[in-house]
Amino acid sequence: SLSDRLGNVFDKLRGRGALSEADVRSAMREVRVALLEADVALPVARDFVDKATEKAVGQEVLRSVTPGQMVVKIVNDALIEMLGSDTAELNVAVNPPAVIMMVGLQGSGKTTTTAKLAKRLTEKERKKVLMASLDVARPAAQEQLAVLGRQANVETLPIVTGQQPVDIAKRALQSARLQGFDVVLLDTAGRLHVDDALMGEMKAVAAASSPTETLLVVDSLTGQDAVNVAKGFAGEVDLTGVVLTRMDGDARGGAALSMRAVTGKPIKFAGVGEGLDAIEPFHPQRVAGRILGMGDVVSLVERAAETIQVEDAEKLAAKMAKGKFDLDDLRMQLGQMQKMGGLGALASMMPGMKGMKGAMEKAQDTKALVHLEAMLSSMTAKERARPDLINAKRKIRIAKGSGRTVQEVNKLLKMHQEMETVMKKLKKMGGLGKLASLFG
Ligand code: GDP
Ligand code: MG
Repeated sequence: SLSDRLGNVFDKLRGRGALSEADVRSAMREVRVALLEADVALPVARDFVDKATEKAVGQEVLRSVTPGQMVVKIVNDALIEMLGSDTAELNVAVNPPAVIMMVGLQGSGKTTTTAKLAKRLTEKERKKVLMASLDVARPAAQEQLAVLGRQANVETLPIVTGQQPVDIAKRALQSARLQGFDVVLLDTAGRLHVDDALMGEMKAVAAASSPTETLLVVDSLTGQDAVNVAKGFAGEVDLTGVVLTRMDGDARGGAALSMRAVTGKPIKFAGVGEGLDAIEPFHPQRVAGRILGMGDVVSLVERAAETIQVEDAEKLAAKMAKGKFDLDDLRMQLGQMQKMGGLGALASMMPGMKGMKGAMEKAQDTKALVHLEAMLSSMTAKERARPDLINAKRKIRIAKGSGRTVQEVNKLLKMHQEMETVMKKLKKMGGLGKLASLFG
């Protein structure tokens, strides 16, 4: 498995702090194999790996986590980000009727998905929905949609034999306007491959019906060809989203990444069976887990991160309960700032700390944080524990070692002193229980 292979890559560098470029590159070779095994198209996998590598290099490895596990978590997060961190609902909030046009290759699941979405819009959003089949290529296609319509309790446009797709679309819109439908779903014909005739038809239908949503329906088992399908359709019609079907099968879901990369459009739904309720909003987290096949590792790293945060907060709270607040504590706080929603916010909640708000918010600026961290690392452990030892000579050394100025070192020390004063005041006020609970 990917986990074993990554274990081998990283065995030799357990215990090191940050991920080096060479380490990440060898791990990413394995990640690339995992992506290809999940059916991510080759150029997409390559591009994704490059971006993820850039993100991973230099990142700190969490305590109690191996570098390999850390890389998996970083890759997982990058996957989720790329797949879209939110689910995207259908846009039907327009002057009715909203037109949803379904496009895709033959057998991808267009007709089934049309009925599924129609049922969902009817039941969940209380919309009045009309479906129309524009598939005049296959003899039984229009009847297939009518049957599904009866099953789903959704109206379908009456079949008129001999009509062409554009005319059917126009008739559907006209009926919808006359009868007060909110949404019209247009189920179009497919082909085995993307070809000019099909694209001409799609464009003509789109021009005649001005859809608010044009959804590309793709079988999640489409492997390397997913890129060509996506390019073929995206180049000709204005897609607004993608629906991946057959996610109930063996597919690892790599097509999702390919689709997203090529079309740039959100994946809105996943088909998870043949039944008319078997559709759900697309869940990037779940699919990322499926593509990597490393869900266990990801949750392990997440748990480790949470544990560390809690442990650090507890240590700090215990120290402060004794009225102690040294530069190590300051350093820990700086590190936690972002995770905790900012010390600026925290300061504004606590009595006596309001004055610190500005300074803390300034320190939260990432560049400033890096500078502060550099100065703190240039100090010895003894200096951090006993800031009163830091005399003029030491200040010069710390400034030189961190590439900052003595003035900046002074500012840091002043900031610490102010915070320490507040901590002492708080102790006298007996407000530490409250403070500790805020950190916990
Ligand atoms: P179209 O040619 O694009 O209109 O495809 P159809 O809607 O006719 O679907 C082709 C076949 O795929 C049918 O047998 C459907 O029941 C099946 N199908 C569609 N979506 C799904 C899905 O999400 N999961 C499974 N297991 N089968 C599906
Ligand atoms: Mg069909």
